[in-house]
Amino acid sequence: MAAPRRGRPPQHWADLDPAARVAALTDAGLPRFRAAQLSRHYFVHHTSDPDRWSDIPAAERAQLREVFFPRLVDPVRELRCDGDTTVKTLWRLHDGSRVESVLMRYGVPGVRSSGRGRMRTTVCVSSQAGCGMACPFCATGQGGLTRNLSAAEILDQVVVSARMLEEGALAGGPGPVNNVVFMGMGEPMANFAAVLAATEAMIAPAPDGLGISARGVTISTVGLVPRIRQLTEWGRPVTLAVSLHAPDDDLRDGLVPINSRWKVAEVLDAAWEHARATRRRVSIEYALIKDVNDQAWRADLLATLLRQRGDWGWVHVNLIPLNPTPGSMWTASDAADQDEFVRRLEARGVPVTVRDTRGREIDGACGQLAALDRAGSA
Ligand code: SAH
Repeated sequence: MAAPRRGRPPQHWADLDPAARVAALTDAGLPRFRAAQLSRHYFVHHTSDPDRWSDIPAAERAQLREVFFPRLVDPVRELRCDGDTTVKTLWRLHDGSRVESVLMRYGVPGVRSSGRGRMRTTVCVSSQAGCGMACPFCATGQGGLTRNLSAAEILDQVVVSARMLEEGALAGGPGPVNNVVFMGMGEPMANFAAVLAATEAMIAPAPDGLGISARGVTISTVGLVPRIRQLTEWGRPVTLAVSLHAPDDDLRDGLVPINSRWKVAEVLDAAWEHARATRRRVSIEYALIKDVNDQAWRADLLATLLRQRGDWGWVHVNLIPLNPTPGSMWTASDAADQDEFVRRLEARGVPVTVRDTRGREIDGACGQLAALDRAGSA
């Protein structure tokens, strides 16, 4: 069989903004009021199955499906753990590329690993097949970039996950998607237009979008400074996460190679500006790597850099125990060093949390997603 062509996916309803949807219908000689009907099926009922479109004449359904709802993401494998509160899905795209997303539920009564508090559900989506950022500790970074996903390919990961949820895929029963995090495969800021278009469709109220609150959407980046600034100008109060991993350029140049282009100080300035403009607290991601970036002096330096830019709670630090990737010589920090790192930040008034290790045993945790060649015969 010939190798699949890596290429642009067909256009989909979710690639169009509301005005363009109406225009496309008119161009196809179809009534404009179909737009609200189709959007309701897709964004509210999470279905693109024409057999369920009972309010649309049967004669039109096949055409509408073909023109506006090409199949974009096909689930080929599903792995579960954490008492069925975490599900990782491997998707095959139209050209054979593979990406993964992870569905996580928190606060399920009686399931200890899902944490406490109100029940809520997060989808962690991929924005690219592979990634070009080459961070040496990240599994996705090792394979390079295959291609950008389209807006609809990103959004469809959420829509199909929402449908799975309604069908009872997770412990705790059916429920809505509350949060989306761009922390799957890829660097969202390197696929900026598609990520913004997908985010617009996530936060638009029904029936034009999924109606998720902007603050419930987190865009995580290695620190492409001009894109962070554009995100700030865009003005939607989404949450920004910056993958810092080191407070000093010497170390960060090696851990996050794009640092040779945009330095720690510039990245933090852009992050601070985002927090100031949106009043949303920025999240600083910091994977703790034993004897690499976990020294007490680095915690002190990080606290100093963050406090220098503002002391009104503009930021919080999210420490991630490193998930070792195959072949890597690095491991997670010792508990005592992690505790000391936390203590030093707290002592200087910097809010800090330690990320849980959800999805670890199914290679679905932070930085473990690497679907490209493991797909096998799927
Ligand atoms: N490209 C984006 C999104 C990637 S993944 C970014 O870098 O922000 C989301 C988070 O997981 C990032 O903070 C990333 O640095 C982190 N991560 C990557 N590999 C990891 C690993 N092996 N262990 C723990 N965290 C990791």
